[in-house]
Amino acid sequence: MVDFPLALLTKKQFLLSELQSHGLRLLDSSAGAPSRRGGAGPTDHKAVTVLGTTIMVPVHTQGAVKSTYVATPPDRRGVSILQSGGAVVCEISFPTQPRFYGLTTAEGIPYWKIALLHSRNTLATTVLQTCVRYGNVATKCQFCAIGESLKAGRTIAKKTPGQLAEVAAAAQRLDGIANVVMTTGTPPTDDRGAAVLADCACAVKSATDLPIQGQCEPPSDFGWFARMRQAGVDSLGMHLEAWDENVRRQIMPGKADVTRAFYLEAFAAAVEIFGRGQVSTYLLAGLGDSVQSLHEGARVLIGLGVYPFIVPFVPVTGTPLAMHRPPSAEFLRSVLGPVGQWLSEAGMTSDTVKAGCAKCAACSTLSTFETLPPSAV
Ligand code: SF4
Repeated sequence: MVDFPLALLTKKQFLLSELQSHGLRLLDSSAGAPSRRGGAGPTDHKAVTVLGTTIMVPVHTQGAVKSTYVATPPDRRGVSILQSGGAVVCEISFPTQPRFYGLTTAEGIPYWKIALLHSRNTLATTVLQTCVRYGNVATKCQFCAIGESLKAGRTIAKKTPGQLAEVAAAAQRLDGIANVVMTTGTPPTDDRGAAVLADCACAVKSATDLPIQGQCEPPSDFGWFARMRQAGVDSLGMHLEAWDENVRRQIMPGKADVTRAFYLEAFAAAVEIFGRGQVSTYLLAGLGDSVQSLHEGARVLIGLGVYPFIVPFVPVTGTPLAMHRPPSAEFLRSVLGPVGQWLSEAGMTSDTVKAGCAKCAACSTLSTFETLPPSAV
């Protein structure tokens, strides 16, 4: 393992990576806004503000139930005490339920079934809550729970451009939302969801001035990148999930048919349209990639102008990987320390991203490592 010198760690880098690895036991499970269970991408988290930074911390996982980190019930100010092994660590707080959750569309659909608040000020939606790969063990990604929230009635299968524009405008007006993330399950079409993302971005842009990130698999026609950009998508995410092809085949047998080499071609074409640092990809630490493998991936991606959003894998209840161990905090720090420095040397830090997960940054502590060491400043 590549050692990130512990002596250089700040208290914040140390504590946030501990929490994302171990999870948090809540003595009052109703603290803060309702947490996300199931759905596309990372889930079973709750937004927690720790030492001035809001991150997503696992609260519904097997590990969180046994975590040494415990949050006391919030007091009247909404502040909890974070304890570890019975000792007080610091005060923490939980972003509260946004006001737009209280509204419904004219057809009677609650706004929270159309889009959710993520972290502090990001509005997130899964435009198509179905995926061509889900529902078949031979093709589904083993970490994904996109169908679970639909089955449980917590969302609707397809969000229309009009619904998203209505909810985004209300979320900006009532809750100070600052950017929008639109992801999608993959439809059985060659555009891989780019077309619905473009339609929805166009509608949201005509109702708000919010920056938007679209997330989809690489379309077979790279001309979709320019069409999405023109429609109002400011940043693009195309998610490799793992760097090592063997890990990709094992964990996502269907999606791995789209090879890493094809992703790299798509990234190069997308950076030409969206710009350096405005294209990103998820890499899930803890699925099987070694520190070296994730570092190799990060170097290649940063060289292409792609932000490698490396997040700790969270074992989600109800998925085949529910019992898989999350990465240790040491592993996360070993991965994220050098990557944060490379991003900062390349001028591609989270704060320069216009919209999306790399901007929100709550599912990883990577952005807290985006400072050059004192000798390099
Ligand atoms: S990083 Fe992405 S998935 Fe995570 S809370 Fe932020 S918007 Fe949501």
